Amino acid sequence: MEARGLRGARMYDRVIIGEMGLQGEVIRLDGDVATCQVYEETTGLSLDEPVIATGEPLLVELGPGLLGSVFDGVQRPLGAVAAVSGDFISRGIAVPALARDRRFPFAPHRRAGETARPGDVLGEVPEVPGLAHRILVPPGLSGRIAWVGDGEFSLMEPVARLEDGQGITMLQRWPVRVPRPAARKLPGGVPFLTGQRIFDMLFPVAAGGTAVVPGGFGTGKTVVEQTLAKFAAADVIVYVGCGERGNEMTEVLEEFPRLADPRTGGPLMNRTVLVVNTSNMPVAAREASIYTGITIAEYYRDMGYSVAMMADSTSRWAEALREISSRLEEMPGEEGYPATLGTRMAQFYERAGRVVCLGEGERTGSLTLISAISPAGGDFSEPVTQASLRVAGALWGLDPVLAHRRHYPAVDWKVSFSQYTTSLDPWFRDNVAPDWPEMRLRLMKTLGREAEVQEIVQLVGIDAIPEEERILLDAAEILRESYLRQNAFSPVDGACPPEKQYMMLKVIFAYFDHLKASLARGAVLEGLLSHPLRREVLSAPERPVEGFDEWARETIGRLSSSGAGEGS
Ligand code: ADP
Ligand code: MG
Repeated sequence: MEARGLRGARMYDRVIIGEMGLQGEVIRLDGDVATCQVYEETTGLSLDEPVIATGEPLLVELGPGLLGSVFDGVQRPLGAVAAVSGDFISRGIAVPALARDRRFPFAPHRRAGETARPGDVLGEVPEVPGLAHRILVPPGLSGRIAWVGDGEFSLMEPVARLEDGQGITMLQRWPVRVPRPAARKLPGGVPFLTGQRIFDMLFPVAAGGTAVVPGGFGTGKTVVEQTLAKFAAADVIVYVGCGERGNEMTEVLEEFPRLADPRTGGPLMNRTVLVVNTSNMPVAAREASIYTGITIAEYYRDMGYSVAMMADSTSRWAEALREISSRLEEMPGEEGYPATLGTRMAQFYERAGRVVCLGEGERTGSLTLISAISPAGGDFSEPVTQASLRVAGALWGLDPVLAHRRHYPAVDWKVSFSQYTTSLDPWFRDNVAPDWPEMRLRLMKTLGREAEVQEIVQLVGIDAIPEEERILLDAAEILRESYLRQNAFSPVDGACPPEKQYMMLKVIFAYFDHLKASLARGAVLEGLLSHPLRREVLSAPERPVEGFDEWARETIGRLSSSGAGEGS
């Protein structure tokens, strides 16, 4: 949409368009003409309708009440919108993101006479059980405190006043495209535990790190994102459903309120913010949804929480960029994506990190970003996957062959990688087991050896390979079937803590060592391959965490004590 005479309008300023009051954003300025991207369906818009420049960019509202909410890409609260406009969002609807009439109990942390600086905790609100919503002095504001409130306030009422008369409310507004400031970035070194063996053990991501999950249709990207949203160790989850099918978001909406948060026992939805821009919603707001999501995530990071943002999928976001850029008739880059795709991606991923927050006290917060990518035809050489790989710290590549065999999560351990492994090893050594890295190495080696032996088997047949290699194949099969495979929907195995991950490997390798030793002592191969303890070892994933350690130690004991000549 082009508008004439929008004097003073700047790039990315928000505009209100036409009699219907559609929302949009300035995306090009050329002389007197401002090209605007409309976030909503433009059908029925006619020439010469008025356009109002708001004089400000797209802002999100930040404050108590975010948790448990469902927003669209430009932060319209879908619950409140539905109350006004029914099941479908009517165009031009303007409902504030956070309810104005809701009151929150504010407990002050600071007193009159003290100095307040950006990021200082003025007080807190029990937003949901188990999580204190810290009310921060907004960036850019400081001074001596003249008054601090204590009691119930709505978002519009000041909870504190500075000596210069400035009021501070619990509501902050922030431009979505501008990263929120922190005191400084911290190096990695602490893992973002996912409860998924293949990730934590083989391709871990650091708290504040970034991982991309590329995979063709049906390979399990959405399930990975949702499983992590459920089980990963984060205080707050921001889940952005970007351009994917609506029914997938419906699943989240139906499931999360029912699921208990393993950390608090309350509904999972209590620590979740959903930003939804599904494939049937206008494409333009999709571009904004990613920024809306990450700004909300940064806000909770600034309070000193560990936040995870799930984006499903960034390909749809890139496609929105492509669509906008082609309408602007910009010079296309690879496959029609804008030439700036790489830079845009880098700027976005740069917003993840572990930081020391602004303000007094050494609060650290982290924002971990897990983003799904849907390359057409599952071809990882396409521009969005490639651009993401250049900026992401970990790649969890999904393999259609594994998915077809229903080996889930269908993570291809041959192409996946993590750049965080070395920096996280000390943490795992100190907090789980001193030989954690060695176990990982042995796991990788065994899988690598299996691939080599399989190639030989293809040529000469299984009977022609040495017996030791038959045993290796057996151990590798157990590793793949019971270790790397993990049923996201199992009440027991859905989440596997690192201690269990480690002990499971110990048991499997104790079994492998036992078979090798027995063979060396002259045991008969067939007997060994149908070993009575094999089933026991395979049962590990579904064994509860309570008592797992005892079971594992006992099983390892039985394996190392069972005598020579067994099975012969
Ligand atoms: P994508 O988002 O890549 O298109 P989905 O995440 O929707 O794929 O996964 C497709 C189907 O695969 C799911 O409906 C589910 O049945 C199965 N699936 C994927 N991952 C898992 C998993 N970790 N455990 C069990 N089933 C899975
Ligand atoms: Mg999906």
